[in-house]
Amino acid sequence: MLRLRELKCYYDTTRGLVQAVDGVSFDILPDEVLGIAGESGCGKSTLLKVLYDYIQPPLHIVSGSYEADFPDSNGKVKTIGPGAIREHWWEFISYIPQGSMSVLNPVIRIENQFFDAVPKSHPLKVAGKTAIRERVTAYLKELELPVEVLRSYPHQLSGGMKQRVLVALGTFLHPQIVLADEPTTALDVVVQKGILLMLTELQRQMENTLVVVSHDMGVHYQISDRLAIMYAGKLVEYGPTEAIFDNPFHPYTQMLIQSLPRVGDRSQRVGISGRPPNLIDPPSGCRFAARCPKVMDHCAHQEPALMEIEPDHYVSCHLYGARAS
Ligand code: SF4
Repeated sequence: MLRLRELKCYYDTTRGLVQAVDGVSFDILPDEVLGIAGESGCGKSTLLKVLYDYIQPPLHIVSGSYEADFPDSNGKVKTIGPGAIREHWWEFISYIPQGSMSVLNPVIRIENQFFDAVPKSHPLKVAGKTAIRERVTAYLKELELPVEVLRSYPHQLSGGMKQRVLVALGTFLHPQIVLADEPTTALDVVVQKGILLMLTELQRQMENTLVVVSHDMGVHYQISDRLAIMYAGKLVEYGPTEAIFDNPFHPYTQMLIQSLPRVGDRSQRVGISGRPPNLIDPPSGCRFAARCPKVMDHCAHQEPALMEIEPDHYVSCHLYGARAS
């Protein structure tokens, strides 16, 4: 459905080029929930913006490719890339951004934010506002959301309701790909659970692809079919979520999973000490070397390649070089 090959996307800043996404390759499949995990600043939100074809200066694609399979009006599938993907926002691909508090326009009623989201060429737009209102009202009822929200301004809604409205906005034209950036951040646990249920239920009903970025491995464990772990702009592990949680290969993934709280386990969770490298001048070898408990001499100089260790389970770490060769 979506293919990335050796994709490099950098921010051009006055201090230098920030190598936010650096040589990332993977496929996103139809009808799956793909999780993208990693600490803040690892490149996961940048990657999501690129997938949405929302590439604006100072961000630019340096090299590599990104393409999507897009079914045209005759049902034929054609390949489209950056510049063309944005022409199909909302209908083919939609984006649920981070921070519902600041994303919704504060001076526009929710109803009008739905009107604005319908592309000019869409039959609903051609049919007019009444048709859009009817469709949105029916959709909110389907989602068991109060239709009164349509007359509200964003500041009149709770944080959880704003996030639900964003999910409804991102899905009401039934796009084939939904991208969600930290959809549960800053929400209490009960609301978080409701949002995750809403997202996964919609994905199941629409049989589309849901890509969820979250720093919270617990979120990925609950909802994703496959998982991509990013560290300092690199993809370090990628595979079925169950396989990754059962048998994480990369030391960084192991530490992320070990830091998760477990029911009944009262021992203190240990975070990952140290900080990720500066992405303006990252180290030449493994970018995790300075924090890795299993670091070897050559790790600081040689960059590990991404290799398939088990069927559909990839890792980028010198610990597995001999095993894979
Ligand atoms: Fe650790 Fe070396 Fe593997 Fe990097 S390549 S994660 S430093 S063992």
